[in-house]
Amino acid sequence: MLRRRISPGAIACFTTREWGNLASQVAHDPAELVANRARLTAELGELAWMTEVHGTNVIVVDEPGERGDADGLVVHAPGLSPAVIMADCLPLLLANETGSVRAAVHIGRRGLVDGVVPEALRVIRELTDEQVYGVIGPSICGGCYEVSAELSEEAAAVHGAATTRWGTPSIDLAAGVRNQLDGVSYSEIDICTFESEQLFSYRRDAVTGRFAGIAVLDTP
Ligand SMILES: [Zn+2]
Repeated sequence: MLRRRISPGAIACFTTREWGNLASQVAHDPAELVANRARLTAELGELAWMTEVHGTNVIVVDEPGERGDADGLVVHAPGLSPAVIMADCLPLLLANETGSVRAAVHIGRRGLVDGVVPEALRVIRELTDEQVYGVIGPSICGGCYEVSAELSEEAAAVHGAATTRWGTPSIDLAAGVRNQLDGVSYSEIDICTFESEQLFSYRRDAVTGRFAGIAVLDTP
């Protein structure tokens, strides 16, 4: 598990490969998925999950389990943590100063361009006046995420256009997200999922699991 402080009251946790697949969409063995999620709940407490659909829908939830289609989950309850799953897309974990409001956001190419990040910040700021903090989690980097020239150009509108290590058009999700974190105090876990064997990568492995990012209240 990779851990990083989000704010004085919240911690970001990212599961590594040893925690297994955590996504229902790609579960080859449903019993294994249930066991993996139970193990994570035992470690971190009750978790709320979403079905990521590459949209901009951000929902506030107060119950554990599957909470439906969304790309951002916001939790405003102490005994519950929002989780996001991915392999290559970017997990962004956000929290206010005290950790009373925490969010998990899923950002792929579509969500970056369509504005899921500003939408998440809007929803959070409706719930809290405190400073907002963030951790940009591991994702495929701009040096690896090759796309068509057209898609790269589209991402340029949100400062997410880049070039691969081999000189072709790409998207830098983290750069685009940084550009949208208006007023947020953030840090970054600089690991590329495509290059790190520690994490799942859809582009590298094709048939693969998904890892999770969770924004946990840091109870003293
Ligand atoms: Zn990379």
